Amino acid sequence: ESLDKGLEKTKTTFFSKLSKAVAGKSKVDDDVLDNLEEVLVSSDVGVDTTLKIIDRIEARVAKDKYMGTDELNKILREEIAGLLSETHVGEETEYSIPKDKRPYVIMVVGVNGVGKTTTIGKLAYQFKKQGLKVVLGAADTFRAAAIDQLQVWADRVDVPIVKQKMGSDPASVAFDTLSSAVTQDADVVIIDTAGRLHNKVNLMNELTKVKRVMQKVVKDTPHDVLLVLDGSTGQNAFEQAKQFTKATEVTSLAVTKLDGTAKGGVVIGISDQFQIPVKYIGVGEGIEDLQVFNKYEFVDSFFN
Ligand code: GDP
Repeated sequence: ESLDKGLEKTKTTFFSKLSKAVAGKSKVDDDVLDNLEEVLVSSDVGVDTTLKIIDRIEARVAKDKYMGTDELNKILREEIAGLLSETHVGEETEYSIPKDKRPYVIMVVGVNGVGKTTTIGKLAYQFKKQGLKVVLGAADTFRAAAIDQLQVWADRVDVPIVKQKMGSDPASVAFDTLSSAVTQDADVVIIDTAGRLHNKVNLMNELTKVKRVMQKVVKDTPHDVLLVLDGSTGQNAFEQAKQFTKATEVTSLAVTKLDGTAKGGVVIGISDQFQIPVKYIGVGEGIEDLQVFNKYEFVDSFFN
């Protein structure tokens, strides 16, 4: 029910647009498809993914020769769920980490302001609630505020944090964090990293170095590179995904701030375009306002 609330604006806006798109029409024809295309693009699904969806619906209309506009909801829902399945989006139903990888290391990347620190705090809270031992690493050493903010979350959730002073080497912080996690026999390590995009080469070098150094402590780490994107920025989030996937191998996504925005369609477009699963969505500022993204619930909350 909190997913419904989190996506309320997206849903209401989407449906009022959708009903306008089919107003006065009994069958799905080229006009309706054109309107639908506009609805999807303006809901931030992204042009490429929108065209993919339209093509699929067009093919079904052609095959069945006739499709009533009353069926459009059902068909659209099926095609969106199908698209999400192709990228394995939303197949997880709970916060879980593999049992055979301890400590499980999550490196979190993303531009400043997208909700990176908040997401780390919320995740730490969820893992701790499961009885897992969590350690945070403040490897965003570029801004003093980033270290302070992470400390605030560490205190709130009551988990240990490894940090150094501002300006120190992020790779060294990551090394210390993993070493400390191993000593403490921790289950999960979440490492914050700097979110500078203006210098792509620097970003790439920094993330590569952080990874290389982590592997000296725990092999094959990080297990997960989680890119945090602000869903309310729509097309900007696409652009950031593009830049970060160029700089490092991103293995999962968290889309934040979906509450209070009508741009929830980014979840569909970004996962499709980058072929990376959306694992978590942020639906508020509170500690509980992070959800494991579940495609069935998402599609249901859209269409129910
Ligand atoms: P960072 O710079 O990327 O680490 O961003 P922060 O974690 O400091 O978050 C920036 C702002 O966004 C803060 O005011 C957060 O409370 C807010 N925020 C983070 N996630 C969400 C969310 O899912 N919904 C809403 N409404 N606000 C969020």
